[in-house]
Formats: sequence, structure tokens, C-alpha cells
Amino acid sequence: MGESRRRCDAMTAEVSWICRTCANQYPASAEPPGKCRICAEERQYVPETGQEWTSLEELAAEGHRTSWTELEPGLFELAVTPSLGIGHRGLLVHTPRGGVLWDPPGFLDEAAVEFVRANGGLLGVAQSHPHLCGVQGEWSDRFRRSDGRGAPLWIPRRDAEWVLRSWDAVDWWDDRLEVAPGVTLIRTGGHFAGSAVLHLAAAAEGRGALLVSDTMMVLPGSRRVSFMRSYPMLLPMPARHLARLLASLDGVQYDRIYGGWTDRLVRSGARGVVRDSAELYRCWLTGSATDPDQDG
Ligand SMILES: [Zn+2]
Ligand SMILES: [Zn+2]
Repeated sequence: MGESRRRCDAMTAEVSWICRTCANQYPASAEPPGKCRICAEERQYVPETGQEWTSLEELAAEGHRTSWTELEPGLFELAVTPSLGIGHRGLLVHTPRGGVLWDPPGFLDEAAVEFVRANGGLLGVAQSHPHLCGVQGEWSDRFRRSDGRGAPLWIPRRDAEWVLRSWDAVDWWDDRLEVAPGVTLIRTGGHFAGSAVLHLAAAAEGRGALLVSDTMMVLPGSRRVSFMRSYPMLLPMPARHLARLLASLDGVQYDRIYGGWTDRLVRSGARGVVRDSAELYRCWLTGSATDPDQDG
């Protein structure tokens, strides 16, 4: 035993590696994956300095911490400071059956878990798209049911190829899934084939709200959204994909939009904001908009 054995154990210990760039967590392995599948694809990027990996333990040692903020009754923001990966926030929706966690960041600590435990537990974890899954598997593992199954991870079947861990806990869905009364996943496509929004019928004083992340980007000033195939790599969303996205929201009642980052909010009038933003985007995409200084 002694030092050499302990060193050996440490060397072979399995770690659930987290990509430093996107903060998605991979299955446990002794060595980190060769590359991050998410970042190596054209919608993300690998830094010029190369692929880097970390772990929950290392992030905690570096001083990362979680905090919760109530955004409106029954809706809470989960933030990580210092910022990590893409820097998005998680959102937790209270329901009588437990919390619905949307797009968890790439770090959690006991304080974050305890907050959920003290507020009705975790009904399941939903994702907008594969870039922002963070440590969703950790959340599922920490809220295992009495039958041993992890808390459900609701993942659209259309994005199955991007699932990083083959969890027993995945509940596949197709175009719509009401995960709790008035809390409904809607697949819009666009950024990814399985890109989704979460519709909260009772939010915004009963007028309804959408959680959107990259499915549509809430822009500074809070009166515009935009639509992209890739935000960091600046690839536009084709008009036919935008048309399908808008059609998937036909008849959905909402007045507010919560973006994927702190303070990204369209407080009211959101349906009109989406309509006008989509029209402006389409005009520039197709070239029907004109700039008198260049087109005159
Ligand atoms: Zn990555
Ligand atoms: Zn994205």
C-alpha cells in the first residue's frame, strides 16, 4: 500500500470530463476524450490553444459557485460564477410535481442540489439543444428514483446523435411533450434539428412565456430576437428553417421570452417581437432590404 498504491489509484480513477469551451460533460473515463464532439463541429469551435478538459472537482477548487435568483413566481435562474463555457444560465420551473430544469450549466455544487431538493425535488431535465446540456447527467444521477432510474432527461429524438452519455434516464420525444401541466416542450428546429423552446402557460401573470436559449437569441435592448445556425461562427439560419420554426409556434400563447443568458428578456409583447424580428431578418437574408448608401 502506501504512497505508490495511492498514486496508482489516482492515475486510474475515472473522471466525468467537462469540456472547457462548451462545458458539456462526458461519460466517466480514465483519460479525457480525444476531442469534444460538440466543439469540433462547424457550429462551435476548438480554441486555437487546443482542446482543454476539466472536472467538477477542479472547477470547485478554482472557486466556481452557483447561485439562484427568482425571476418571477415559480421561475428561478441558476447562475455559475465565475462564468463557465458558453456562459449560459439554467432555469428552474416549479411545478406541483417537482422542478423542471432547463439547460443546466456545466457546473453544480451541493448548494444548487439542496435548493432543488428543498423546493419539491427534480421532475426532470429539459434541453434547448446539444450545446447547452452542461452537467445534465449529474442532475439526473443526483435525483435517482426509488427504482434506481435517474431523473428523466427529455431529449428530442432528432438530436439523438449528439447525446454524449447513454443514460438509462433518457426519455425521447418528437415534436411536443407536456412534461407537467402547462409546461410543454416544443420542437422548432433551426439551430439544431431538435432545437426546442419550453412553453410556460402560467408564466408572465398567465399570459405565457417561452424559454428559448439559442433557439432564438434575445438581443440587447430586449426588443429583438435573432435566428442563427451558429452564433459563435456566424452562420445564418436559412429562410426555410426559419419558416418552420415560426410555424411550430403558431397558436402558442406567450407574451414574454427568457433568453439563455442573465438579463436577456423580452418582458412583454414577445409575439410581436418575434414576428417583426423574423421579418427584418428575412429581408436582410434574402436581400430584399436595401441600404440607400450602398444600393442607391
Ligand atoms: Zn466542447
Ligand atoms: Zn448553440
